[in-house]
Amino acid sequence: EAFKINRLMADVAERYAILAGEKDVRFNFTLLSEDVVLWSNMGLVEQVLIILLDNAIKYTPKGGSISLYASLEEDMVKVSVSDTGIGIAAEDISYIFDRFYKVDKAHATQGTGLGLAIAFEIIQRLGERIVVESHPEEGSTFTFTLSRNPGPGIKSL
Ligand code: ATP
Repeated sequence: EAFKINRLMADVAERYAILAGEKDVRFNFTLLSEDVVLWSNMGLVEQVLIILLDNAIKYTPKGGSISLYASLEEDMVKVSVSDTGIGIAAEDISYIFDRFYKVDKAHATQGTGLGLAIAFEIIQRLGERIVVESHPEEGSTFTFTLSRNPGPGIKSL
């Protein structure tokens, strides 16, 4: 299915700007300067964005900020969700994509620890990559790729 990544990001950003505002968190977003059409599964990409943005809001205290941005490389788009939240310690970072893994210090009593595992699985099925960079008390950035040519998993979706 063909869709415009800028369009999807703008739609999602519209909703999360409101949610962030309710928590006194700033929301920034930067679209691609070129209107790129991707051949992927828009619903699944949206689901990944929702998981990452929900977490960004959940783990960013009042007064912080969240950014959603995309960049264009030769054969792929990179989409990042960045926050100035509590961050993730080095000893936890290799487990956060595991099912049911929660960092104690996050006090995420309402969370199931499934969100990132689902995001990881979706990205894998799309034949893409997701990475995280994080520093405690500074924030986190999750970045995933979207190939401009369909990935190996795309035919079965
Ligand atoms: P749910 O999936 O139900 O929202 P969750 O947020 O606990 O629950 P995941 O989304 O899988 O589960 O995240 C796993 C853990 O990774 C979280 O419990 C939290 O400790 C940590 N984490 C995820 N995103 C962030 C973030 N943006 N900043 C800091 N810690 C994060």
